[in-house]
This record gives sequence, C-alpha cells and structure tokens, in this order.
Amino acid sequence: MSHFSIICRKCGKELAGTYCAFCEHCANALLITRYRDAFRDDCGKGIWKFNWLPVHTPAFEQPGTVVYRSQWLARHLDMQSLYIAFNGYWPERGAFLEACTFKEFEAAIVLQNAIENGVNGLVVASAGNTARAFAHLSTVSGFPVIIVVPRMCLMEMWYLESSSMVPTLAIGDGDYSDSIDVARRIAVISGFPFEGGVKNIAKRDGLGSTILEAVSVMGRLPDHYVQAVGSGTGGIGVWEMSERFLCDGRFGSALPRLHLAQNLPFAPMVKAWEKKSRELFEEDLRPELIGQISTRVLSTRYPAYTVQGGVFDAMQATQGSMYGVTNREVFESMELFSNLEGVDIVPAAGVAVGALKQAVDKKTIGRDDSVLLNITGGGEVMLGREKKTYNVEPAFISKKITDREIEDLVCTVLKKSS
Ligand SMILES: [Zn+2]
Repeated sequence: MSHFSIICRKCGKELAGTYCAFCEHCANALLITRYRDAFRDDCGKGIWKFNWLPVHTPAFEQPGTVVYRSQWLARHLDMQSLYIAFNGYWPERGAFLEACTFKEFEAAIVLQNAIENGVNGLVVASAGNTARAFAHLSTVSGFPVIIVVPRMCLMEMWYLESSSMVPTLAIGDGDYSDSIDVARRIAVISGFPFEGGVKNIAKRDGLGSTILEAVSVMGRLPDHYVQAVGSGTGGIGVWEMSERFLCDGRFGSALPRLHLAQNLPFAPMVKAWEKKSRELFEEDLRPELIGQISTRVLSTRYPAYTVQGGVFDAMQATQGSMYGVTNREVFESMELFSNLEGVDIVPAAGVAVGALKQAVDKKTIGRDDSVLLNITGGGEVMLGREKKTYNVEPAFISKKITDREIEDLVCTVLKKSS
C-alpha cells in the first residue's frame, strides 16, 4: 500500500492514478498529497530521509537543504532566532547541491515521481536555475528531459560538465512565458509530458522539503518563513508541508507566516496582494518590466497566484506579507550576506534577505520570533573555484516555430542526446 494518496484540496475527493492534473470536479483547484504516516526523517540518505515525499524507491542520490542557526546576520539584524536554509554548494557547512539551487529538489522529486508513474521523459521550461537543476538530475538519473529557455537568460546560465549533453532549446524572440508556451507545444508533439508547473504535486512537495529539514533541525515549525518567489510554487509547497505538521501535532500549533518577496519593478503578486486581489493586474505583467529586474529567475508572467490552493490562498491562510525589493537592495543584501555569513548567494536569495530586512524594520517580524530564511541558491562562486562550469550551447528557435519544425527538431535533439 502506498504511503500517500492524492486528494483535491477543494472537495477532498481522492484521485487514483492521476499525474499532474486538476480535480475532475473542481475547476482550477490544486491537488495535494496526503501522507499516511506521521513525519519521519530517518528513512534514507540526503533528501530521501523524509517520508513526506511522493516517491517509493529512489534510484539516485540527492543531497538536501542545510539548516543552521545564524550568528552574524542575526546579530546584525538584532534577531534572536534566525535560521538559514542554505540551498547550494558550501562543503564546509555540508551543503553539496552542485547546481547551486533549491530547484534540485524540485528536479529530483519530479523525475523520481515521473519514473514511478511510467513517464518516459519530460519537457521543462525554465528561466535558468530550473534548467540547470533538471539538466544535472537528468544526467544523474539517466532520465531524458528537453529543456526550453528564453535567450535573455542565457547570459546568466551555466551547466555542470556532465549536463552539457542535455538537449536545450533557446527561444530567440521571447521571454520565460513564451518558453512555457513553446514547451507545452513540444510536449504534445514529443509525447513527453510538460513537467506540469504548479499542478505537479511532486514539484511542490520537493520544494517544500526545505521546511522538512528545518523542522528536523529546529524541532518545531518556525513563526515566520521568508522566500523570494517567481511562480510562487516554493511558497505554496512550504505552506502545504506546514499544514501537514499541524495535523501531525508534535511540531507547533500555528502555521508559519509566509513573507514572500519579488524584485521591483516586476512584482505582479506583490501588487495584487497590496490590494488584496485574487486576480493579477495586466499593467503589472508588462514584459518591459522584466527587462528592468536583476533576478530573471523570478520573471514568470504565469505565477500560481489565482489558482485554488495557490499563493493568494497561502497568504490568506498564514496571514502572510509580501515585499517588493529594489535592485539596489538586492545587491546590498547579497553583499551583506556574503560578508556576514561567508558564502556568496544568488540575486533571488538577495531578494529574500532584502525582504527580511524590511520585515524587521516594519516589525512584521519581531526580534524574538523564530524565522526561517530560505536562501534558494548560493555557492556558485565557491563551486567555480573547485569545478569547471560550462556555458549552455542551445539550439535557437523562434516562438513562432511551426508544429512541423518542432517534429523535426525533437527527432534531432533526442537522437543527438541518446
Ligand atoms: Zn475537487
């Protein structure tokens, strides 16, 4: 008997044999995983030590999050109980994510879950770090993926040596959202499913694993959780995991309040939440705003905000707050963190640190509260000193590519990589 089932968040119906779907009765409502047993963290190595993951027999190794109590950043902000969830490469601290991003958990759990669902390959759209994570895990697991990225993100992209053979397509004339559109079309034609975005329970549970490690280390749920968000899937995953901890009953009686942040001026969820609106506003989704932010990985125009069980609901349920962080604050925060904690972090993590500073200033987070700060990526500089990294060499395509051209392309790229 499986240790989990999949149910509709809205109507509670259990759906058997489903993969990356919505409820068949409730329009636009996310399905969630229900785990049979109480929380355990002694089931295996790395991330596989947790029982609250939708996988049965992991076929490859995957290191997990490192959670530690901050001394220097905490002192700087005059905080008593600041915990850092470090997701990246920092061997001295025991952090071994070579793709230097928490998207490795998404990739690992999604791939393992796909393998167990009899799926033969996946199509993934990414603005950068997800691509690297999936390319890395595709190599580690031997599971085929086709990756689609916007050209504007290539400058900041790199692969590990082993991943340079993973088929990668770059959209020359579009942004992250156009990549998602093309990836969906490639999925239909290639027969490989699209990784499913927020609909994929394995993606949310994988990203939620950060708080599994936090509870394992802290012994309880934190009062607050701070993260930068693009699609918001990570924040939703943490909220869902926190609800499971409340049901478990041993780790606290209140949900952590979510403090989610975006990089100004492209901050559609922040703007909508300021007006307590479940709908995003067109004016906040204008592509020209994306050109002005320093964190391309946060640039999706399709965030999981409005959907039932999405960011809007997570924010309401946890009485959360949202923060807009300027480019200047991002760079200052990256430097501050690196100077105080001793490791480089990615711009998106700088957005989270900037939000934490704002929250402490505004007193939405109290100095004695326990806080989990998600450093979603870091250690790229450290990794670069030890290992050679590679530029991504994609095949360039247009967002106006025809179905016939996609057919030919899929044939070529799959042949090349096998
Ligand atoms: Zn339903």
